[in-house]
Amino acid sequence: MATDAKALRIPTIPVFEQFIGGAWGPAWSGRTFDDLDPWSGQIVARMAAGDAWDARRAIEAAQEAFASWGTSTPSTRQNIFLRAADILERRRAEVMDWLASETGCGHDFGLIQIEFVLSLLKQASGAGYAAVGQVIPSDQPGSLAMAVRRPVGVVAAIVPWNAALILSARAIVAPLMLGNTVVLKPSEESPWVAGVLWGQIFQEAGLPPGVLNVVTHAPGDAGAIGNELIEHPFVRRINFTGSTATGRRLAEKAGRHLKRMVLELGGQNPLIILSDADLAYAVDAAAYGAFLHQGQICMCARRLFVERPVADEFLERFSAKSARLAHGDPRDARTVIGPLINNHALSMVTRRVDEAVAGGARVLAGGHPVGRCYPATVITDVPSNCELSQEETFGPVAIVDIVDDADDAIRRANDSVWGLTAGVITGDAERGMAIAERLDAGIIHINDQPIHDEPQMPFGGVKDSGWGRFGVTFAPEEFTDTHWVTVKRRQRTFPF
Ligand code: ADP
Repeated sequence: MATDAKALRIPTIPVFEQFIGGAWGPAWSGRTFDDLDPWSGQIVARMAAGDAWDARRAIEAAQEAFASWGTSTPSTRQNIFLRAADILERRRAEVMDWLASETGCGHDFGLIQIEFVLSLLKQASGAGYAAVGQVIPSDQPGSLAMAVRRPVGVVAAIVPWNAALILSARAIVAPLMLGNTVVLKPSEESPWVAGVLWGQIFQEAGLPPGVLNVVTHAPGDAGAIGNELIEHPFVRRINFTGSTATGRRLAEKAGRHLKRMVLELGGQNPLIILSDADLAYAVDAAAYGAFLHQGQICMCARRLFVERPVADEFLERFSAKSARLAHGDPRDARTVIGPLINNHALSMVTRRVDEAVAGGARVLAGGHPVGRCYPATVITDVPSNCELSQEETFGPVAIVDIVDDADDAIRRANDSVWGLTAGVITGDAERGMAIAERLDAGIIHINDQPIHDEPQMPFGGVKDSGWGRFGVTFAPEEFTDTHWVTVKRRQRTFPF
């Protein structure tokens, strides 16, 4: 019979459930929501629309699973992580496709995400063999005193959509490799790449039921789930990547419950270009740093401080290059600037650029939305009191400021509530090192732009960009507790 959707060539919309306690199932309410493609506006998939009750079920499953996962052997964990890497490798093309259709991610950034996560999984596979403590000399005769790290229990992971694969992977892999169990809450914009995918991969890799749980939700429901994740007594730690405004709200609540958080928040990252820089290199670095993934990466170069003697030439060459960057369908290999994630983001970028221009700013490239894209935009003379100057603008907009010298650049770069990443381009690496020592940023790259990450590095910011560090080597600081344990080899004496 030619009545089914396939025979009629009507594309069927896939439906995905949540992953709780090792089983896939609908949200308890039965609700679903539509996962949209930011380029085409089409529905990519229907997702379970979970709420606080689903989060509670996931937390309880994670708590139950912790009893055995927390004491599992390093080889058990190693085999699972290595299998997970193999599965991701096998599904590479499919994941690249989903990255494009859920988050508008182009080929270059898709590849970066896949390679990062493969490396993360492989590095994490050996982490179970790292020493978990130290022996500390005691003044008590016959006492063996130890500092021993133990997993904390259930860790909540709240992740954004922008670098959906990397940011979800690092939020779950580090806690898991240390023996914790996890409840993952992906963004409503990327429930598949940052959520469902991990349930599928780790289930196939043999992770025991309940060790990883995934709760997806519709727009508007993050708050109730977030509250449950913070308030539930079984959840011992929360890691959050997202905006400073949301991170601050969650940290306030977590403080009330005396729960520690890792917070990786926004930034308005400076890129300083000194007059002894190789200008061709500086232009290429600035374009990559400002416009990769259409400026929707927390590490993007947002403010370019260029030393006066080279400013005119830099501006001319940088604007010309920016104007040439193709915008359009992220699946087209020629596209550099894909769509912004949603209409809200597009109108926010448009409004902020328009406001800056009304206040006297000059646009040297881009400056207007085209369909769902905002072409690469270079803007200068931006007034200090407008939103573009003061807020993190998640889009392809590079603000260029001309500075008198390196001191002026450092002063302006540090005149910010944020401190995530920074870049300094100079022909003199020693000079770059001296500048790096004075920059308020958690991550500083000399002779590079601010976007770079590797799984073993201490990733995180200072000031309003957050606290705590992701990174395989640094994760024990965040996702274990240190216990002091003593063994008396002989009986001690007591005063009474
Ligand atoms: P972005 O602008 O990068 O999406 P958000 O801070 O809005 O940053 O979102 C990051 C993550 O935080 C997403 O998973 C989102 O669903 C979640 N989120 C947003 N508001 C809340 C909230 N009140 N409680 C818990 N999570 C939230």
